[in-house]
Amino acid sequence: MLRYKWQGDDIDAADNRALRRAMGEGLPLIWFFGIGPGLYQPVFPVFLIAEETDKQQFVVDIDPQRAFLDSDVNLDSPLEVDVLKRYGTRIARTRLHQRLFRSTVINAYGTRCAICNLRHKVLLDAAHIIPDTHEDGVPTVVNGMAMCKIHHAAFDANILGIRPDLVVEIRTDILAEVDGPMLKHGLQDRHRQPLMSVPSKRAERPSLLLLETAYARFREA
Ligand SMILES: [Zn+2]
Repeated sequence: MLRYKWQGDDIDAADNRALRRAMGEGLPLIWFFGIGPGLYQPVFPVFLIAEETDKQQFVVDIDPQRAFLDSDVNLDSPLEVDVLKRYGTRIARTRLHQRLFRSTVINAYGTRCAICNLRHKVLLDAAHIIPDTHEDGVPTVVNGMAMCKIHHAAFDANILGIRPDLVVEIRTDILAEVDGPMLKHGLQDRHRQPLMSVPSKRAERPSLLLLETAYARFREA
Protein backbone atom coordinates (compact mmCIF):
# COMPACT_ATOMS: atom_id res chain seq x y z
CA MET A 1 0.00 0.00 0.00
CA LEU A 2 1.05 3.58 -0.63
CA ARG A 3 2.15 6.05 2.00
CA TYR A 4 1.59 9.79 2.24
CA LYS A 5 4.11 11.80 4.25
CA TRP A 6 3.07 14.31 6.86
CA GLN A 7 3.47 17.98 6.06
CA GLY A 8 6.66 18.78 7.96
CA ASP A 9 7.56 17.16 11.28
CA ASP A 10 4.81 18.64 13.44
CA ILE A 11 2.12 16.12 14.36
CA ASP A 12 -0.25 19.03 15.02
CA ALA A 13 0.38 20.98 11.83
CA ALA A 14 -2.92 22.13 10.33
CA ASP A 15 -2.61 19.88 7.24
CA ASN A 16 -1.84 16.82 9.35
CA ARG A 17 -4.80 17.51 11.61
CA ALA A 18 -7.06 17.88 8.58
CA LEU A 19 -5.82 14.59 7.12
CA ARG A 20 -6.36 12.84 10.45
CA ARG A 21 -9.91 14.15 10.53
CA ALA A 22 -10.56 13.00 6.95
CA MET A 23 -9.30 9.58 8.00
CA GLY A 24 -11.58 9.53 11.05
CA GLU A 25 -14.60 10.46 8.99
CA GLY A 26 -13.71 8.13 6.12
CA LEU A 27 -13.79 10.95 3.58
CA PRO A 28 -12.67 10.31 0.00
CA LEU A 29 -9.65 12.33 -1.10
CA ILE A 30 -7.88 13.14 -4.34
CA TRP A 31 -4.16 12.48 -4.21
CA PHE A 32 -1.87 14.40 -6.52
CA PHE A 33 0.97 11.91 -6.70
CA GLY A 34 4.23 13.63 -7.63
CA ILE A 35 5.88 12.02 -10.67
CA GLY A 36 8.42 14.78 -11.37
CA PRO A 37 9.10 18.46 -10.71
CA GLY A 38 5.74 20.22 -10.99
CA LEU A 39 4.08 17.12 -12.45
CA TYR A 40 1.36 15.14 -10.75
CA GLN A 41 -0.78 12.13 -11.48
CA PRO A 42 -4.20 12.53 -9.81
CA VAL A 43 -5.39 9.40 -8.03
CA PHE A 44 -8.95 9.23 -6.70
CA PRO A 45 -10.88 8.40 -4.73
CA VAL A 46 -8.42 7.40 -2.04
CA PHE A 47 -8.88 6.94 1.70
CA LEU A 48 -6.48 7.21 4.59
CA ILE A 49 -6.81 3.98 6.52
CA ALA A 50 -4.06 4.28 9.15
CA GLU A 51 -1.39 6.56 10.47
CA GLU A 52 2.21 5.51 11.11
CA THR A 53 3.24 8.17 13.61
CA ASP A 54 6.78 6.83 14.04
CA LYS A 55 7.38 7.24 10.31
CA GLN A 56 5.36 10.47 10.05
CA GLN A 57 3.03 9.19 7.36
CA PHE A 58 -0.46 7.99 6.52
CA VAL A 59 -1.37 4.72 4.86
CA VAL A 60 -3.36 5.32 1.68
CA ASP A 61 -5.78 2.91 0.06
CA ILE A 62 -7.86 3.25 -3.05
CA ASP A 63 -11.64 2.94 -3.05
CA PRO A 64 -12.45 -0.80 -2.80
CA GLN A 65 -16.05 -0.19 -3.87
CA ARG A 66 -14.90 1.28 -7.13
CA ALA A 67 -12.36 -1.50 -7.64
CA PHE A 68 -15.24 -3.91 -7.10
CA LEU A 69 -17.40 -2.20 -9.72
CA ASP A 70 -14.58 -2.38 -12.25
CA SER A 71 -14.52 -6.18 -12.21
CA ASP A 72 -17.11 -8.60 -13.59
CA VAL A 73 -18.86 -10.30 -10.71
CA ASN A 74 -21.95 -12.43 -10.26
CA LEU A 75 -24.04 -10.26 -7.96
CA ASP A 76 -26.27 -13.23 -7.06
CA SER A 77 -23.46 -15.05 -5.32
CA PRO A 78 -22.43 -13.56 -1.97
CA LEU A 79 -19.32 -15.74 -1.87
CA GLU A 80 -18.26 -14.69 -5.36
CA VAL A 81 -18.93 -11.06 -4.56
CA ASP A 82 -16.81 -11.32 -1.43
CA VAL A 83 -13.92 -13.12 -3.12
CA LEU A 84 -13.96 -10.92 -6.20
CA LYS A 85 -14.29 -7.79 -4.15
CA ARG A 86 -11.06 -8.60 -2.40
CA TYR A 87 -9.47 -9.81 -5.63
CA GLY A 88 -10.72 -6.73 -7.48
CA THR A 89 -9.20 -4.47 -4.86
CA ARG A 90 -5.88 -6.21 -5.26
CA ILE A 91 -6.00 -5.84 -9.05
CA ALA A 92 -6.93 -2.19 -8.72
CA ARG A 93 -4.00 -1.60 -6.35
CA THR A 94 -1.65 -3.34 -8.77
CA ARG A 95 -2.95 -1.25 -11.67
CA LEU A 96 -2.50 1.91 -9.64
CA HIS A 97 1.11 0.99 -8.86
CA GLN A 98 1.71 0.22 -12.53
CA ARG A 99 0.20 3.53 -13.61
CA LEU A 100 2.32 5.53 -11.18
CA PHE A 101 5.41 3.52 -12.20
CA ARG A 102 4.76 4.24 -15.87
CA SER A 103 4.21 7.98 -15.36
CA THR A 104 7.26 8.36 -13.13
CA VAL A 105 9.63 6.39 -15.34
CA ILE A 106 8.56 7.95 -18.65
CA ASN A 107 8.78 11.41 -17.15
CA ALA A 108 12.25 10.70 -15.71
CA TYR A 109 13.51 9.88 -19.21
CA GLY A 110 12.03 13.04 -20.67
CA THR A 111 9.41 11.00 -22.58
CA ARG A 112 12.08 9.32 -24.71
CA CYS A 113 13.19 5.77 -25.34
CA ALA A 114 16.46 5.22 -23.46
CA ILE A 115 17.82 3.18 -26.36
CA CYS A 116 16.79 5.15 -29.48
CA ASN A 117 15.42 8.49 -28.20
CA LEU A 118 11.98 7.93 -29.79
CA ARG A 119 9.66 10.56 -28.36
CA HIS A 120 6.11 9.34 -28.80
CA LYS A 121 4.40 8.54 -25.53
CA VAL A 122 1.98 6.08 -27.13
CA LEU A 123 4.97 4.05 -28.34
CA LEU A 124 6.73 4.13 -24.97
CA ASP A 125 6.63 1.69 -22.06
CA ALA A 126 8.11 1.74 -18.60
CA ALA A 127 10.25 -1.38 -18.77
CA HIS A 128 11.22 -3.19 -15.59
CA ILE A 129 14.97 -3.82 -15.38
CA ILE A 130 14.23 -6.80 -13.13
CA PRO A 131 10.79 -8.20 -14.08
CA ASP A 132 7.93 -7.55 -11.67
CA THR A 133 7.43 -11.31 -11.34
CA HIS A 134 10.79 -11.43 -9.54
CA GLU A 135 11.02 -10.48 -5.86
CA ASP A 136 13.51 -7.68 -6.64
CA GLY A 137 11.29 -6.42 -9.46
CA VAL A 138 9.90 -3.51 -7.50
CA PRO A 139 7.90 -0.82 -9.34
CA THR A 140 10.21 2.09 -8.48
CA VAL A 141 11.98 4.42 -10.86
CA VAL A 142 15.43 2.89 -10.19
CA ASN A 143 14.12 -0.43 -11.52
CA GLY A 144 12.58 1.25 -14.54
CA MET A 145 13.66 2.48 -17.92
CA ALA A 146 11.59 4.20 -20.59
CA MET A 147 11.75 2.18 -23.79
CA CYS A 148 9.83 2.09 -27.04
CA LYS A 149 7.73 -1.02 -27.69
CA ILE A 150 10.37 -2.69 -29.87
CA HIS A 151 13.27 -2.08 -27.52
CA HIS A 152 11.21 -3.08 -24.51
CA ALA A 153 10.32 -6.41 -26.13
CA ALA A 154 13.93 -6.89 -27.30
CA PHE A 155 15.17 -6.20 -23.76
CA ASP A 156 12.70 -8.64 -22.17
CA ALA A 157 13.63 -11.30 -24.77
CA ASN A 158 17.40 -10.85 -24.11
CA ILE A 159 17.97 -9.71 -27.70
CA LEU A 160 19.24 -6.47 -26.22
CA GLY A 161 21.19 -6.04 -23.00
CA ILE A 162 22.31 -2.99 -21.06
CA ARG A 163 25.71 -2.98 -19.45
CA PRO A 164 25.98 -1.52 -15.94
CA ASP A 165 27.90 1.42 -17.49
CA LEU A 166 24.75 2.16 -19.56
CA VAL A 167 26.03 0.87 -22.90
CA VAL A 168 23.74 -1.18 -25.12
CA GLU A 169 24.70 -4.64 -26.35
CA ILE A 170 22.95 -6.71 -28.98
CA ARG A 171 23.09 -10.50 -28.76
CA THR A 172 25.77 -12.00 -31.04
CA ASP A 173 23.43 -14.14 -33.18
CA ILE A 174 21.25 -11.09 -33.89
CA LEU A 175 24.28 -9.11 -35.06
CA ALA A 176 24.93 -11.72 -37.73
CA GLU A 177 21.42 -11.60 -39.22
CA VAL A 178 20.48 -9.81 -42.42
CA ASP A 179 17.00 -8.34 -42.57
CA GLY A 180 15.27 -4.95 -42.98
CA PRO A 181 15.82 -1.44 -41.59
CA MET A 182 14.36 -2.19 -38.15
CA LEU A 183 16.95 -4.89 -37.55
CA LYS A 184 19.79 -2.81 -38.98
CA HIS A 185 19.08 0.62 -37.52
CA GLY A 186 16.83 -0.28 -34.62
CA LEU A 187 18.96 -3.07 -33.21
CA GLN A 188 22.36 -3.80 -34.83
CA ASP A 189 23.41 -0.12 -35.02
CA ARG A 190 22.71 0.33 -31.33
CA HIS A 191 25.36 -2.27 -30.44
CA ARG A 192 27.99 -0.82 -28.08
CA GLN A 193 26.31 2.60 -28.14
CA PRO A 194 25.58 4.47 -24.91
CA LEU A 195 21.97 4.99 -23.87
CA MET A 196 20.53 7.97 -25.70
CA SER A 197 18.35 9.10 -22.84
CA VAL A 198 19.19 8.94 -19.13
CA PRO A 199 17.40 10.77 -16.29
CA SER A 200 19.04 14.09 -15.48
CA LYS A 201 18.44 13.47 -11.78
CA ARG A 202 20.91 10.97 -10.36
CA ALA A 203 18.29 9.59 -7.94
CA GLU A 204 16.13 8.54 -10.91
CA ARG A 205 18.88 6.68 -12.77
CA PRO A 206 18.82 2.88 -12.82
CA SER A 207 20.17 1.03 -9.81
CA LEU A 208 23.64 -0.37 -10.51
CA LEU A 209 22.84 -3.55 -8.63
CA LEU A 210 19.67 -4.20 -10.65
CA LEU A 211 21.51 -3.46 -13.91
CA GLU A 212 24.27 -5.90 -12.98
CA THR A 213 21.73 -8.63 -12.24
CA ALA A 214 19.87 -8.04 -15.50
CA TYR A 215 23.09 -7.88 -17.52
CA ALA A 216 24.34 -11.17 -16.04
CA ARG A 217 21.06 -12.75 -17.16
CA PHE A 218 21.49 -11.30 -20.66
CA ARG A 219 25.01 -12.75 -20.90
CA GLU A 220 23.69 -16.19 -20.01
CA ALA A 221 21.03 -16.05 -22.74
ZN1 LIG B 1 13.57 2.58 -28.79
